[in-house]
Amino acid sequence: MSQEPTLPKDALALSITNYVACSKCADEVAKLDPPESLQNYAAMDVGFTDWGVQVWCRRHKVNIVHIDFEGQKLLADFRRLEIV
Ligand SMILES: [Zn+2]
Repeated sequence: MSQEPTLPKDALALSITNYVACSKCADEVAKLDPPESLQNYAAMDVGFTDWGVQVWCRRHKVNIVHIDFEGQKLLADFRRLEIV
């Protein structure tokens, strides 16, 4: 799987526009006292599966989302952007 990168280098910075979260974690974190951020509270695994990509809540042992690639091979950019 050696392909030329297709994304501009700027895309390797944090570019998330819509975060993925476990709804059970979100419900729980809303009630925490003292408050804690959902980002710190959540414990997720993200990885490739036989179908696509799955996001899994480690805390609740539930599927958060499983994206089905429908057999298509999509381009992915695994370059790591290091700021020196
Ligand atoms: Zn959860």
